[in-house]
Amino acid sequence: MQILLVEDDAAISVGLQKILMEENFVVNCVSSGQQAINQLQVSVPDMMILDIGLPDITGIEVLKKIRPQFSELPVLLLTARDETKDKVEGLNAGADDYLTKPFDVDELIARLRVMERRLGTVKSNCINIGGISLDTEKHQVSLDGQPVEFSRREFMLLKALMERAGHVLSKDQLEQMLYGWGEEISSNSIEVHIHNIRKKTAKSFISTIRGIGYSVKQS
Ligand code: CA
Repeated sequence: MQILLVEDDAAISVGLQKILMEENFVVNCVSSGQQAINQLQVSVPDMMILDIGLPDITGIEVLKKIRPQFSELPVLLLTARDETKDKVEGLNAGADDYLTKPFDVDELIARLRVMERRLGTVKSNCINIGGISLDTEKHQVSLDGQPVEFSRREFMLLKALMERAGHVLSKDQLEQMLYGWGEEISSNSIEVHIHNIRKKTAKSFISTIRGIGYSVKQS
């Protein structure tokens, strides 16, 4: 799950990125409204966390500008003040949710999980396919009821494929889902993760579609 975080306060931005990455979100950060608008033309995240108080244009203006083109993108607004006016304006501009700073990180994560479920990629906390059960909330995987250990990236990769079972994901798409900007990534890292996952699941669980990508069959 890829999140674009739009926040000009570097301390908040860095802190949130770290915490959310531990929760298996991939978080990329920009620090102005215009950067956020530009970034969406380059790649569209799964969700956006948008601060209202930005140095150039307000988060609400950003939202108004992007909504016509990106009507489905879930957006959670952040504001420094508990201003009912901001809240109403934000929701009218198309925000899906709203948090007032300072907020509890657990609450932010819970709200993001709700938005994630609304996306429809995750219909419940558990995805069950071919004997493998993946719990997106507890970050646990079991094979025929037995817990199996996966590294953070292996878990994220498996989750990406299971959420989109029946669809093929390219290596590029998977890299974007697993790695934030500027993160060290070797050319064969996806292959290595796939190899490691296959050692822990049935080998045929993930199919290689040569020249295209990888896929998990729908159960
Ligand atoms: Ca701010």
